[in-house]
Formats: sequence, C-alpha cells, structure tokens
Amino acid sequence: MSPQKCDLIIYGSNILTQDENRSILTDGAIAVTGKIIADVGTKADIDLKWNSSKTLDVGNSIIMPGMINSHTHVPMTLMRGVADDLPLLTWLHEYIFPIEAGLNKELVELGALLGCAEMIAGGTTAFLDGYMFEDVVGKAVDESGIKAVLGEGFFEFPSPFFKTAKQAWETIEGLHERFLLHDRITTSITPHAVFTTTPDQLIESMELAEKLDVLWQIHCAESVAETELTSKKFDKRPLEVLCDNGLLTPRTRIHHCVDVTEQEIKQISASGAMISHNPQSNLKLGSGICPLTKLLSSGITVGLGTDGAASNNDLNMFEEMRTASLLQKGILQDPTAIPAQTALDLATVNGAKFLGLTDTGIIKAGMRADIIAIDMDKLHLKPVYNPLSHIVYSAGAQDVNLTICDGKVLYQNGKHFTCDVETISHEAEKAVKWALSRLKKH
Ligand SMILES: [Zn+2]
Repeated sequence: MSPQKCDLIIYGSNILTQDENRSILTDGAIAVTGKIIADVGTKADIDLKWNSSKTLDVGNSIIMPGMINSHTHVPMTLMRGVADDLPLLTWLHEYIFPIEAGLNKELVELGALLGCAEMIAGGTTAFLDGYMFEDVVGKAVDESGIKAVLGEGFFEFPSPFFKTAKQAWETIEGLHERFLLHDRITTSITPHAVFTTTPDQLIESMELAEKLDVLWQIHCAESVAETELTSKKFDKRPLEVLCDNGLLTPRTRIHHCVDVTEQEIKQISASGAMISHNPQSNLKLGSGICPLTKLLSSGITVGLGTDGAASNNDLNMFEEMRTASLLQKGILQDPTAIPAQTALDLATVNGAKFLGLTDTGIIKAGMRADIIAIDMDKLHLKPVYNPLSHIVYSAGAQDVNLTICDGKVLYQNGKHFTCDVETISHEAEKAVKWALSRLKKH
C-alpha cells in the first residue's frame, strides 16, 4: 500500500495527546492535512502511512495540544505593571479606569496584538476575551492566526461606552455578524459583573445570548469584597442573583468563583454552567483562593485563565497550571490534590469545552491542528522521567519552540511568522508615555 499524501508531518520525541486514554507517545508523529490532524502515531507508523513534502522535526521536544486561556482581557497588556501591590479599589480607580477611559481603537488593537503575540510564543492557541472595541481585538486575532471567543463588555447603562441597552445590543449583534463566517473567531455576551450591572439587564443579555446562540460570560464571586458590594445593592450574594434570575445555564461561563458556598457549587453543577479558574490573578489581587478541588469533584467543568495582564502580569498558561496545582496542595495540605494530569486537562480539554469548541484541545485524527512543542534540551528539564511532570512542574512559556494553529505555523524557535513583534514592542513602549499622561490628569 503506498502512503497517502498530507500537507505536513511533525515529528517529536514525545506526544502528550490528551486523548480519552491520555496516551503519551514516544518517537511520535502527526500528519496534518489543511487545518485538520489526519493521523497521530509513532514515527514508524506515520511514515508508513503518510507522505508529505513538508516535514517539521522538533527533535527532543514534547508535542502537545495548544493551550486554551479561558479568561483574559487581552488589550490590558498595555497596562502590564503600571501599578501593583495596591488595594483593589485604589488600583482600579486611580490607575486602571483613568487609563481605560482614554483608550481608543488603535491602542486596543496594539494591546491585542501584543497579547496575541505573547500567547502564541507561550503555546496558547485560543482564548476567551472580554473588553471594549472587540472588533479590533478580532482584527488582531485574524491577523495573528490565533483563535478567540470575543466579548464586548458592558456595565450598567448609561456607561461611558453605551448610553442605552439598545446601543449595546446593536454593537454586540454587529460584532457577532462581522465574525459570523470567520473560521477562528466566535463571539459571546459579556456583562462585566453582577454588582456593575442590573438583574434586568442581565436577563435581557441572556435572551440575546440565546437568540445568537453564543456563550454568556461574567465575572462572579471573585472576592468577599464583591459579595459585600452585591449584598448591599441587591440584598443577595452574586451567585444568588444569577441563580434566582435563571442565569445559570449550560451557556453560562463564570470567571473566578472564589467566594462560593457549598450550596452554590451544587447549583452551578446542576445547571451545566462552567467556571474559569484564574489562580495568579486571584492571588495578586488578594481575592482569595478558589475551591478548585471541590468544583471539580462536584462535576463542574473548569477552565484555566490568566485574567488580564494588568493583574497577573502575563498571559503564561504554564504558570497558571503550576499555580493551580500548588495552591490546592498547599491550602488542603494534600500533595495529591490537582495532580499534573488534572492541571494539563484544565489548560487543554477543559479549556476547549469552556470556549464551546468541540474540535480542539486534543491531538487526535479529525481535530483541528492546534499543536505546540516544548524544547526539552534545557537544563531545567533534565533528566526526563515523565514528560507530563515536566510540562506542569518544570517547563515554562519560554521553552515553547513551535506553535501551530489550524495547521499553520505561527511561531518557531523564537521567530513569529504572523506578528511584527518589533513594531508591536516599539509601539507598546511608546504607549507608556500616553498611559502615564492619563494618570497625571487625574
Ligand atoms: Zn477578568
């Protein structure tokens, strides 16, 4: 039997497939046709069955699915490090909000490009975003070759961005229509939080999510302080507001869930809503610790996210995996909590479910070719007993040496193929002056 033709064959010393059996292949290979994985197996097996004029041998590297960032505000890369180590409300009102109030489409696009380039270099191939001017975030996603679910955020009306509900819904529908036929971009409905909107507005926005058949994402139960603010305003806890208004549904995506009760966990689990865990942002903002182990054992699908780069301060999913695991071990005084395989699942298979994507997060025939590789020829990755252990406990974003999304090589050995990183870096440095001038005015 002569081998079949494919467009690309990738070879590497190990493949963490993340398939149903969590198979790890040694001396593995992946055949790619167009945007799709055609076959996965050992090098000997794939060479026998497939033939391609283009091959990519990453040598002593671990190949795995591209990671999925379930919660970020990608343009906030422009505010990375502008202010740290402050109480949340001071940080927001004296630094973040004054800068955000002056943002325009050019700056949002620049921040989005910077974030997309950072994620691509760090092995992330898809993310769920929430911010303003998401049409230009979509432009950055389109150009950079990554995947995204975009969410045009809104607050209680009238707000600086939308005077009325009608205006907001029109913009959101416009965004949805603009990317309706895009192969790598979908949209979502994105109310900011329970305490910054109203229940009526949330209900109306859920109706829009149903009409457009898209996800509905919200920050919720991020901290005890948020619970207090919400209780003052509505005489209810944040999750109670969602539950009482029929807003816990299979299309609901909740970011954080730090201050959550046993009863609320049961309600989320029964509803089919999913949660995004953002351990580094929660720690840095002093928000508390999400009961991740409890959420998972109650059957809730949990994704992993960085949150915005102003509160993290990077978009590095390796750090999130390690922090998620170490935090639970520490707080529960149980070293068996969140083992490496669970941490990797959060960043891959669970992330895909969280974003509503059924064809990524796993290296398997028929799935999209969203593939990354991690260079194992580094001192901090020697020797290798167990590749899975190294990915979660030893490797970092800087070890990624290949990022492929939809069969297209976006990044290899330090070189970006879709992002003009020199210009992006230069423009980002220039934005510092602008941001600081905004702060002086306030
Ligand atoms: Zn957030």
